[in-house]
Amino acid sequence: MSRKTENTGFVCINCGADVQALTNGSYRNHCPKCLYSLHVDNTPGDRSSHCRGMMRPVGIRYNGKKGWQIIHLCQKCDAEKVNRVAVDTIQPDNQRMISDLVN
Ligand SMILES: [Zn+2]
Ligand SMILES: [Zn+2]
Repeated sequence: MSRKTENTGFVCINCGADVQALTNGSYRNHCPKCLYSLHVDNTPGDRSSHCRGMMRPVGIRYNGKKGWQIIHLCQKCDAEKVNRVAVDTIQPDNQRMISDLVN
């Protein structure tokens, strides 16, 4: 693989946070501070969606295999996607935002 576009940092379009790429081997696809995401993937990490809508965190669920996942709803096309909560990395997800989603 010569391209390294799959796991890169970005600037959050919701809160402006400077988000760095994950260091735990997974793909960063949401902001660790406000948990917003951007609709850029069809499958995680492929960056092949042309929607580019802002994805709002609407809930959280537990998957026996994958652990805690944030449910995102695209504000532009209504697509619903789940993203794993980022742990064991630099800039782990904001735990208070996560627990707000649980309640
Ligand atoms: Zn943010
Ligand atoms: Zn979308």
